[in-house]
Amino acid sequence: MRIDIMTLFPEMCETVLNESIIGRARRAGKVELGCTNIRDFAGNKHNKVDDMPYGGGMGMVMAADPIYNCYKSLYNENEPKPHLIYLSPKGKTLTQQRVKELSSLDRIVLLCGHYEGIDERVIEEIVDEEISVGDYVLTGGELPALIVADAVCRMLPGVLSDDLCFEEESHFSSLLEYPQYTRPAVWHEKSVPDVLLSGNHANINKWRREKSIEETAKRRPDMLENAILSKEDQKTLEKISGSKSDK
Ligand code: SAM
Repeated sequence: MRIDIMTLFPEMCETVLNESIIGRARRAGKVELGCTNIRDFAGNKHNKVDDMPYGGGMGMVMAADPIYNCYKSLYNENEPKPHLIYLSPKGKTLTQQRVKELSSLDRIVLLCGHYEGIDERVIEEIVDEEISVGDYVLTGGELPALIVADAVCRMLPGVLSDDLCFEEESHFSSLLEYPQYTRPAVWHEKSVPDVLLSGNHANINKWRREKSIEETAKRRPDMLENAILSKEDQKTLEKISGSKSDK
């Protein structure tokens, strides 16, 4: 898979994409990542990429042409058009399900806005999807683009050491993850649950599943509607709601 980020701050993106798990995956050729400076496509001698909003008002708006020309430079006319995502607080909020779907595409391009946003006409002409990372407003699309790139990359084969790493994680199957512990076994007089030290993997898996259901019921009961629950899981849920009503 290839992911390109169109941005006014390519160095900011490169710094993050060269670190840790994504940096390793990039160097190992598990994913191709590129950052392109929209300013290189300004097409004027002052490299200006923004202008005042028509109708007046505060701030500046990113002009259509530099963004359009930047996007066109990323692929040949005889290639399929890469899926273009504009990071925007007006977009659909990102979910793990959407991340999973995006990870099956061959190419995506992430467009970062800045200032007051982007001329609507270029959005209409080239953008396939708008994604938000939450109901708050950031100064630019770089952090949201890096969130999308990180979340998508870690779903690609070979990026994590084991696919189980994400299959058991929060949100993958509409359940939150069970609590995790590492050494020492006792810290600040708090002990790791005995079952995790028992070496009995059937019991450990059972405990983890129960805790996962318990965490989800406690923190995000809305997620349970989409979770696939066995009869055992239903019993766990009944136990939890029984112990709640006893209180
Ligand atoms: N004036 C715009 C509005 O009210 O919708 C906000 C523009 S914001 C200051 C500048 C850029 O940051 C946006 O074009 C977008 O790329 C990015 N951005 C800000 N908040 C975001 C969010 N929650 N999710 C995704 N992108 C966001």
